[in-house]
Amino acid sequence: MRVIFLGTGTSQGIPVIGSTHPVCLSENPKDKRLRVSVLIEWNTNTYVIDCGPDFRQQMLNAKCTKLDGVVFTHEHADHTAGLDDIRPFYFKQGDVPIYAHKRVLKALKERFAYIFETQNKYAGAPGVMPIKIKNEPFRLGNLNVVPINGMHYKLQVFGFRFNDFAYLTDMKTIEDEELEKLKGVKVLVVNALREEEHISHFNLSEALEIIKKVQPERAYLTHISHMLGFHDEVEKKLPENVFLAYDNLQINL
Ligand SMILES: [Zn+2]
Repeated sequence: MRVIFLGTGTSQGIPVIGSTHPVCLSENPKDKRLRVSVLIEWNTNTYVIDCGPDFRQQMLNAKCTKLDGVVFTHEHADHTAGLDDIRPFYFKQGDVPIYAHKRVLKALKERFAYIFETQNKYAGAPGVMPIKIKNEPFRLGNLNVVPINGMHYKLQVFGFRFNDFAYLTDMKTIEDEELEKLKGVKVLVVNALREEEHISHFNLSEALEIIKKVQPERAYLTHISHMLGFHDEVEKKLPENVFLAYDNLQINL
């Protein structure tokens, strides 16, 4: 399995438009972060988790030529706003399967009504095949994917376990029984916004706490704000098996 971090930034991305914060002005490519998403490939399967406003650029960066589906964590714009840009895949492959909680599918249907239109649909619009997921394993290709339920303040969000790899983003709280599902995972990705507390995201110490409980071989932090600091400086402060993810990072499992 190969995982590519397509984006590792919080909702505004880094740099933030118009910001003069030193991290936003950094020339280090690792301090430039598109909105969060990962591409996961195994055998002949290619899926992405979330499809934010940087989706087009991310598909170009990853030289992605086919997409078997999009799996959504939740409906916030930084995770969904790029849905229209699945068009090149739709034109080649037909309706693109999208996997999401029924509440998320409803939100997408409202925001992208023209994509879900069944009568007199505009010929240039993309098409999707909506697939509802609940908090129980579902099949992607030859793999059982396990949803991990968490809370983004008051909003339910899904993380996902793909065999030895698990991805949690936009979580603030997670029940111990959900963490149990992560037992034995080799690589764990967890959101860590900044050092200061936040109402709907783990801060750095909360993310490290989750990693300590799960005990993966390695962990990567994502959904990062410029307020967390410079990539190279933050990495020096992290435990031995914990790393900051950065855009275009690839890991093989
Ligand atoms: Zn987000």
